[in-house]
Amino acid sequence: MDVSSASIARRVTKQISVGDVKVGGDAPVSVQSMTTTKTADVDGTLQQIYALAAAGADIVRCTCNEAEAAEGLAQIVPRSPVPIIADIHHQYKMALAAMEAGVDGLRLNPGNIRKPEHIKAVATEARDRGVPIRIGVNAGSLDPKLYEKYGGATPEAMVESAQMEMAYFDEVGFDQIKISVKASSVPLMVEAYRQLADATDHPLHLGVTEAGPPPEGLVKATAGIGALLLEGIGDTIRYSLTADPVEEAKAGRQLLEALGLRERTNVDLIACPSCGRAEVDVIEVANRARDAFEDREIPLQIAVMGCVVNGPGEARDADLGIAAGNKRGHLFIKGRNVAVVPEAEMVDQLVEWAEFIDEHGVDAALERVDLDKAAKEAEKDRARLLDDKGADANHATEKIVEIRRTTS
Ligand code: SF4
Repeated sequence: MDVSSASIARRVTKQISVGDVKVGGDAPVSVQSMTTTKTADVDGTLQQIYALAAAGADIVRCTCNEAEAAEGLAQIVPRSPVPIIADIHHQYKMALAAMEAGVDGLRLNPGNIRKPEHIKAVATEARDRGVPIRIGVNAGSLDPKLYEKYGGATPEAMVESAQMEMAYFDEVGFDQIKISVKASSVPLMVEAYRQLADATDHPLHLGVTEAGPPPEGLVKATAGIGALLLEGIGDTIRYSLTADPVEEAKAGRQLLEALGLRERTNVDLIACPSCGRAEVDVIEVANRARDAFEDREIPLQIAVMGCVVNGPGEARDADLGIAAGNKRGHLFIKGRNVAVVPEAEMVDQLVEWAEFIDEHGVDAALERVDLDKAAKEAEKDRARLLDDKGADANHATEKIVEIRRTTS
C-alpha cells in the first residue's frame, strides 16, 4: 500500500453551516483563526480578517465583549470575505447583541455563562435565527462544581461540561452545535476529545489552548491537533498561537495539506537536512526558495537537495527539484534530470520550471528537454563528487578508526 496517498477515515459527524462554510459531515476540515484587534475598530479588524482569509482561514472569530464590539460586528459581518463568529464570555446579552449584528456563529464558554435561563435564551434565539453555536469548553475555565466533582480539569469533567450545555440546548430544541474541549496540555486535550468523540456525533472544533509563541506553540498545537486528525477526529481547527494570527491561519492550512485533508494550494517545499556531502548552503537555498514561492500558489512538491549524488534519487517523488553539484544546479522532474543551471540561478530556475509545469504539466516539461544530455551531465558531477569525497562523505570510517585507536 502506498502510505503517502493513504487517506484518513474521518469520523462520521452531523453537518452544520457557519455562513456558507459547512462544518462536519463530508465537508473538508476548515481552518479558523481569531482577530486580535478591538472589534469596535471596524477597519482594523476587517484588515486583519482579509489577511487571515488570504492566509487560509475559512472562518474568523472576533471577540464580542462589549456593546461597541457588537456594533462593530454589525459593520464587519457584511463586509467580511469569510463567515464571522462572535466569541462570548460571561455576558449572555453580548450573544444576543452579536446575533442582532448578523454574525454567522457564536462561541459560548459553558464555564462562564452558567445560568440555565441565560443559556436557554441564547439557544432559543440562535435556533430562531439559524445561527450555530460552538460549545467551547476550556480546561482553565471549567465550572468550579465540575472541577470539584472530578478533582480537577480531567477529560471526564470537560466532556460532562459540554454534555450539560448540550442538555440545555436540547430543552429548547437547538442542535446546530459544534464542540471543543481545549486544554493547554496536549495529552489532556487529546484524551478529552477522544472521549467526546465517543459521546457525541456533533462536529468537533480542535485546538490546544494557550499553546504559546512559535516554535513551541506550533509544536504543541500540531502534536495535539495532528494526533486527533490522524485518528479521524476533528471537523474544524484553530491554532492558538501567541503571534500574528496570520501565522495561525497559515499553520492550520499547512497542517491540513500535509495530512492530505485539504487540497494543496501552494508549494510543498521539501529539502534535505544537509550533510557533509552538501555542495551548497542548503538552508540558505531552501529559505530563498520558500520566499520565492510564498505567494505564487503553485500546488507542486518541490525539492531542494544538497548534492547530486543522492538528491534526485531521495526526492524522486517530488514534482520538481534541484540538487547541487560542482557549482551547478541539476534540475530534476520526478527524479529525472532535465537541465543543468549555474549555481547562482538555482532558485530562479526552480521558479521558472515550476510555473511551466503548473501551466503545461509534467509531460510538456519533459518534452522540452534533452533528457540524455541532462542525465550525462548529472552523472559527470555525481562521479566527480564521489571521486572527491568518496562514498563516505562524512568521514565516518576515518573517525571510527580514530575512535578505535584512542580507545584500544
Ligand atoms: S547526501 Fe546529499 S541530499 Fe542527502 S542530506 Fe547529504 S547533501 Fe543532502
